[in-house]
Amino acid sequence: MDEPIIDLHSDAYFMGEALRQAARAYEADEVPVGAVVVRAGRIIARAFNQVELLCDATAHAEMLALTQAEEATGNWRLTDCTLYVTKEPCPMCAGALVHTRVQRVVFGASDPKGGAAGSAMNLLQFPTLNHRCEITAGVREAECRALLVSFFSERRAERKEEARDGPRNGARHSVRNGADPTPSAES
Ligand SMILES: [Zn+2]
Repeated sequence: MDEPIIDLHSDAYFMGEALRQAARAYEADEVPVGAVVVRAGRIIARAFNQVELLCDATAHAEMLALTQAEEATGNWRLTDCTLYVTKEPCPMCAGALVHTRVQRVVFGASDPKGGAAGSAMNLLQFPTLNHRCEITAGVREAECRALLVSFFSERRAERKEEARDGPRNGARHSVRNGADPTPSAES
């Protein structure tokens, strides 16, 4: 009876579900952040960052997951819910987490510059606000961070390539299409 048991109620398990969402964001060329909301041991909402897809800077994984959770429970108060997210919430999402009164927030990778769950600031436990969330940091942090690091290093490599070869839809494209071959003015 020494076989490892997957604990279906552990933080690591639910963060794994948030990581699956983050991977979907990665595939969609979105900053890879995923979130799930759990209530009474059940996932009631799953979402990934969709800022580009929806052309909406507020479409962070946490915001989309919170809206789903409110719909699922029929209640904007999520006092008995835990939100799992692969990256430390930003100030906007931390504000939403306080407004929806989420009981506990579990995150993977911390964000020293913009994290609002204790790294750059702590809006989740701000003394004068009317709700404070419990915080658990660093769950499956290495995996959560690896996705982000790989995404941004890929982006940097693409930009370097563009700087060297010119934009993908630039002058060479025009020649091939029989358009005016004069190179467009580019910096
Ligand atoms: Zn956010």
